[in-house]
Amino acid sequence: MEKMKVKLNWPLVGNRHIFEFLAKSLSNKNVSGSYIFAGPANIGKNTAAHYFARSLVCESSNQPALSCGACQACQEAIKGTHSDIYLIKKETDKKNISVDQIRGFIRSLGLSSFLNSYKIGIIRGADSLSEGAANALLKTLEESKVKVVIILTVADIEVLPKTIISRSQILRFQPVESDTIYDDLIKNHGASRSQAKNFSRLAAGRPALAVKFLEDNEYCEDYKAKVQSFIDFLSPDLNQRFKAIEKILGERVHNQESANLAGKIIDIWQNLARDLMLEDLGLADLVQHQAFDKELAAMKNKLNQPAGQAGLKSLLSLINILKQAKEHIGFNVSPKLALEKAAVSL
Ligand SMILES: [Zn+2]
Repeated sequence: MEKMKVKLNWPLVGNRHIFEFLAKSLSNKNVSGSYIFAGPANIGKNTAAHYFARSLVCESSNQPALSCGACQACQEAIKGTHSDIYLIKKETDKKNISVDQIRGFIRSLGLSSFLNSYKIGIIRGADSLSEGAANALLKTLEESKVKVVIILTVADIEVLPKTIISRSQILRFQPVESDTIYDDLIKNHGASRSQAKNFSRLAAGRPALAVKFLEDNEYCEDYKAKVQSFIDFLSPDLNQRFKAIEKILGERVHNQESANLAGKIIDIWQNLARDLMLEDLGLADLVQHQAFDKELAAMKNKLNQPAGQAGLKSLLSLINILKQAKEHIGFNVSPKLALEKAAVSL
């Protein structure tokens, strides 16, 4: 690939190949009708989609191809009021993105643009398109129009229908090295060295997550509580385990929101269990939760009590039990029941 001379003016940490690819298609006026931005949450997909959309509508001729940030179109895009940029995502209390949502989205994209500029549709979290919604979207992709660009962001590309994948330009976001995230936290976000060290580890390759840990105190406290709850969940006393589950799920009824919450908690617990295993294997350098060394020690302690060994075998079985609980929740078992079943199996 020939060397790009365009200066990176998007706040994208890592994943420079994505920026270079998109900047090149902009300057060559070689823009596809549909893109899939694939990669884990908080890795920069939405930032890239926002800047790409801005660059497509930017009216400045000073910096061809890249959003200037100052013209009226850029300003509207920044405020989220640009009439040619549409964004949809799953509503929090819904299981997926519905057909109706997609139909409205397609209608908006079908209206002609006043300025004869691009119309851009962004579907955030397209992994949660319902089957009907995906089919409706596919029809639009098949009849793709000039100057209409659709961007789908997904964590897991495998869940999208192959017919959508094959019609789209796929850009894969890779986990970012913790040193790069460390530098970004210090240079651009005013983190102290110890904050940068802890949060770059904790973010496991996802730069936006590291920033969230640094700047969003509520998120940070909530995360700590979820780590703490795993210590209680590992208690040798079954009653204590049940209490831990009750405490984190609260009085919530079984709905999509409680399923999402339980899913997030299990993700954190699985990563903690993996860290315990890495420590066991003498790979402390790779441990994600280094900032929680006291908590990890407490977990190990709990696991040690009944059998007299934390050991690889019991950690593997723990990871398996958590994986099953998550699968059960995916199959619509009540989160409380799924977690209680896991607690009994420990
Ligand atoms: Zn502009």
